Amino acid sequence: MGAQCRCGSEVRFAFDHLGCIECGAGCCPACSYQLESANYCSSCAETLLELPGAAKPSSGRSAARLT
Ligand SMILES: [Zn+2]
Ligand SMILES: [Zn+2]
Repeated sequence: MGAQCRCGSEVRFAFDHLGCIECGAGCCPACSYQLESANYCSSCAETLLELPGAAKPSSGRSAARLT
């Protein structure tokens, strides 16, 4: 039985090895990012790579995003 990642890829490997250490989301090799020997999901990696320190979610305000 294969699991399916949220990105749509079929995951045949041990899912635990690619969990995001930031939010705990399961990631497959296709959608995870490895930063300094730690795995992050795409959204966390994006946040970390964009503006470290400015990634705190603020309620009521939407952060300015370039995308
Ligand atoms: Zn994450
Ligand atoms: Zn995936």
